[in-house]
Amino acid sequence: MATTADITQVDELRTGGVEVRGLAFFDTDFGKCDVCPARGVRPEAAMDAVVEGKTVFGVWGRMCPGCFREAGVGLGVGRGQVLLRS
Ligand SMILES: [Zn+2]
Repeated sequence: MATTADITQVDELRTGGVEVRGLAFFDTDFGKCDVCPARGVRPEAAMDAVVEGKTVFGVWGRMCPGCFREAGVGLGVGRGQVLLRS
């Protein structure tokens, strides 16, 4: 489960839009959260992804804030990166 510090850092990186080595991933299209459907949310109702990273399920995926909080393992190399607009 992601820590409060991780979640605060997601907000700060998204607000600042600056690259921090190992913590940000630039893309043009973030897509929808991969974890929402696994939590019982209808795929069409999945939230927008804000983090790409490892989940507690062992697989890598894109996560919305709520799923990152519940299923993310945190931020950093090999853990997760905040998605920022390229
Ligand atoms: Zn989600």
